[in-house]
Amino acid sequence: MDKAEIKKHLSDFGLKNGDVVIVHSSLSSTGYVKGGADALVDAFLETIGNEGTLVAPVFGNLGVFTDTLKNRSEAVVSDCPLGTVAAIGANAEFICRDHRKADTAYGHNTPYIKIAELGGYVCLLGVDQDRNTTLHSVEALLELPYLGTQKIKLENGNEKSFKCYPGPHRDFIGIDHVMCQNGKMKIGKIGKAVVRLMKSQDLIDTFTELGKRYPDFCLCDNRNCADCVKQRAAIRKNRLAEEDFKLSIASSVAGKYIPEMIDNLKTAGAEYVELDIIQGKPTHKLSADKLKKAVDEFAENDIKISALRLSAVPKDIKEILELLKATGINDLIIPLSADVGEFIDQSTKAKINISFVNLGVSGPYAANIMSGLNARFVFSPSEFAKAGEMPFLQSFRQGKFGKYISQLDIEDALFDGTPSLLASGNAEIRELISILRCASFSGFMTISGRNRNLGSAKDLTEKVIKLLK
Ligand SMILES: [Zn+2]
Repeated sequence: MDKAEIKKHLSDFGLKNGDVVIVHSSLSSTGYVKGGADALVDAFLETIGNEGTLVAPVFGNLGVFTDTLKNRSEAVVSDCPLGTVAAIGANAEFICRDHRKADTAYGHNTPYIKIAELGGYVCLLGVDQDRNTTLHSVEALLELPYLGTQKIKLENGNEKSFKCYPGPHRDFIGIDHVMCQNGKMKIGKIGKAVVRLMKSQDLIDTFTELGKRYPDFCLCDNRNCADCVKQRAAIRKNRLAEEDFKLSIASSVAGKYIPEMIDNLKTAGAEYVELDIIQGKPTHKLSADKLKKAVDEFAENDIKISALRLSAVPKDIKEILELLKATGINDLIIPLSADVGEFIDQSTKAKINISFVNLGVSGPYAANIMSGLNARFVFSPSEFAKAGEMPFLQSFRQGKFGKYISQLDIEDALFDGTPSLLASGNAEIRELISILRCASFSGFMTISGRNRNLGSAKDLTEKVIKLLK
């Protein structure tokens, strides 16, 4: 191919006098071009004319096209060490100006957004969406929760932090079909190179809309991609932080050993763990040393303890309270029974928050005891279903548990007590979550130990987020 042929292709694509275009390219994809990169750069420049502007990113693996453009005497290079671009043409100065003063390398006040505002195009020449820097702009505009901060030393020696810096892997090639389907992108060929041309603003609008609904829109779902697993966890954590309630996950759901639990809780995006079973043992059977070590390990990984839960009424609560004291755990959950009044006094003295969970008792019975105590209540819908009640329509409403509730166990079960997947049993878990959210419930909702064997901590958290939706 020669310059004239390339120019004809570019015009056929719709590029015309006065256009702004950012080109991501691989010259090796085009096949032989007479005059090489210079001819290709000239073909673009002559197509868009003196009023047009040709831009190319000049970071990462520089291609010959980029190199050629950057080295022309009339080229302007943006002064930002991240996301740097070179430009030639009428708007080159405007596009490159003050890039490094922007808060982010790709968002507002950067060349990428200016190109969109000028009605400019993105041209992918022999490369795919993976190289499309304007997709970083979409992430930055959305301030996606998985984005980080990048510190960079500027030429003047000062350090500057850029917000919304993208992580290592995103599945940009996986979202190409969205632009294909909405008709906002042209695909064709110049020589052997597959060329994609789209209006920058169309690209930004399309994916901003998508990203508002699905913040994971450009992450891959390969479960072995550690980058995207981590980025998805950040999205879940951010989503849960929007709620008034705090989500906790039972240790028995998170795993068997502490490092495994920590890994799974982090992947889930969880901030709290409820200690019920550790290494196959009820947590309170662990020695104080061992439990303290576990609590410290959780803390080092930013995971807090929501409570320690007992599965039976203890004979000696003093021992348990001492264990909690020694390990820095402040909250204890024990089954509700008729004679728990003294536990309240003792735990108050020990400065431990105690709460009572319905276990093997009916709604009216539990309501009767609770009305005589000034105490916190953990609502286990599975247990009320097992007692033959409708946990929301009967137990919750009639027992007026809204007054005492400090925690809702997120779980589901059939009327015979068999645990079931969330929102597919008789525990009315959706209704319970919903009514508590209506009152800005700020206690815990805990993916209880009854969910063990029903899914990973991550899958269960994902399911909870779906229920919230
Ligand atoms: Zn990935």
